[in-house]
Amino acid sequence: NLGISQPATAGKRKLYKTTKVLGEGTFGIVKEAIYTPTGRLVALKSIKKRGHDSPEEVEAAVRREMTVLEKIRHPNIISLLDWFETKEKYYLVFDLATGGELYDQIAKRGKFTERDAVRIVFTILSAVGFLHDRDIVHRDLKPENLLYRTLEEGADLVIADFGVANIIHEDELLKTLCGSPMYAAPEVIKRTGHGKPADLWSIGVITYCVLAGYPPFDFAQDMPDLMDAITHARFHFDSPYWDSISTEAKDFVSSLLRVRPNERPTARQAMIHPWLCKHSQRARDAL
Ligand code: ADP
Ligand code: MG
Repeated sequence: NLGISQPATAGKRKLYKTTKVLGEGTFGIVKEAIYTPTGRLVALKSIKKRGHDSPEEVEAAVRREMTVLEKIRHPNIISLLDWFETKEKYYLVFDLATGGELYDQIAKRGKFTERDAVRIVFTILSAVGFLHDRDIVHRDLKPENLLYRTLEEGADLVIADFGVANIIHEDELLKTLCGSPMYAAPEVIKRTGHGKPADLWSIGVITYCVLAGYPPFDFAQDMPDLMDAITHARFHFDSPYWDSISTEAKDFVSSLLRVRPNERPTARQAMIHPWLCKHSQRARDAL
């Protein structure tokens, strides 16, 4: 019994004092909070039980996020510290990442140097490789779900947001597509099933973003156009933005943004791509 569906844990809510909103997602709101017994700062994600089309699926998603994260301990994956529920809401307590989203850094800095991009991509790949080794697929990798652990220069990234995304793709795909399928793989859009390779596609889109400062399919004029571009992997290394970027970097992106899932490298294969090895000792060590 995970505690969910029996509000016996409701009293825990009182132990947390929320201070500010960190982010708002599809179902949940994430606030910074102080765990008053120790003074520890945490991220408290709350998900309303009612007001969804399918409350059962929301519960299943929360349960999934808990079950997945409960088993996982990795330096680049957000730690789940606790969970509980009240009559109205489910709560997940996470380690606080104070450095903000990669999304904001891309918006602020524009493009990253290749060396910095490699560091980001290698970190994501090693965490995703760890998940894939355990048959866990994230399914919603995007710069909004990649958080800097601290505000320090050179802080590590952690992957957040497990589970809730699954039901969006499986059962509420239309909702997602009305939002942003910018990072979704062709097979996700075509609903022909998506496994580990879908994460590799998303990493390809993220890599494109950090190198260029803008996403690969943002030329699309409307939703049908965007879906068409993704399902045909129609993207370009536009001039002048890509002029000074290395052939290895472009090759890396192209190898991930393949329409057919089985033509993409695995996370472990991608980690030893020449572009990563050129800039990262950790990648060379993995050879
Ligand atoms: P959703 O499934 O609703 O997208 P997320 O888990 O992605 O929920 O959380 C939404 C946002 O809240 C994230 O994009 C991030 O900005 C912020 N956030 C989530 N978890 C943390 C955390 N542990 N530390 C700091 N900020 C977080
Ligand atoms: Mg999210």
